Amino acid sequence: MVALDGPAGTGKSTVAKRLATALDARYLDTGSMYRAVALAVLRAGVDPADEVKVSEVADNAVLVVGTSPEKPGITLDGDDVAAEIRGPEVSLAVSPVSATRHVRELLVAQQRAIIADALDHVGGIVVEGRDIGTVVSPEAPLKVFLTASADARAARRTKQDTAAGRQSTVDAALADVRRRDKYDSSRAVSPMKAADDAVEVDNTELDLAGTVDALLDLVQQRGLRVTG
Ligand code: C5P
Repeated sequence: MVALDGPAGTGKSTVAKRLATALDARYLDTGSMYRAVALAVLRAGVDPADEVKVSEVADNAVLVVGTSPEKPGITLDGDDVAAEIRGPEVSLAVSPVSATRHVRELLVAQQRAIIADALDHVGGIVVEGRDIGTVVSPEAPLKVFLTASADARAARRTKQDTAAGRQSTVDAALADVRRRDKYDSSRAVSPMKAADDAVEVDNTELDLAGTVDALLDLVQQRGLRVTG
């Protein structure tokens, strides 16, 4: 298993999917799960900062997250929400929702079950998030913390948003990236940080293919093989 953590805009999702495909492994985007709960909170008309109500919404939300790197997909109460969870409303609500202790407990349990199932059935999974190496799977044999300068990450986010047909400017993306970095790394529960034994990869000067190659080298160096 590979744990891939780091802030927004590092190309983490694309890199994680390509790595999973190259290794014939499954893929789990834990951020999509926090985003789906944030969407459930917004749909319920609940304040994302209201921990009690947010916890209730999370208890009642039925999340099904796919693990195919080609088309992961995610449903909330049976609804395909893959596109909606990437919108600006959800991006604003997700930090406070993901700082709710009960939400993290629920999702971490679900994530660990998905990881165990993948290891049992196909022998490998690439999991991306903020706390995979520190909390979800501290025993992962390879932990990578992917970073890049805030400017590079904002530029990539804008390109991604524009390609997906969402309105975006570099200034707005930079503000969002900075706001979420600050929130995610300063929250009391499972703050985003590199595990002590994580390999830090800064891809400011690397493109996606170069980043995937760097990670494949690490996989090889660790002698990690995926069976099945
Ligand atoms: O990865 P992505 O940017 O989609 O994640 C959205 C948000 O979900 C992050 O800003 C963070 O607040 C939260 N998150 C988290 N723990 C994870 C993955 C995501 O708190 N493992």
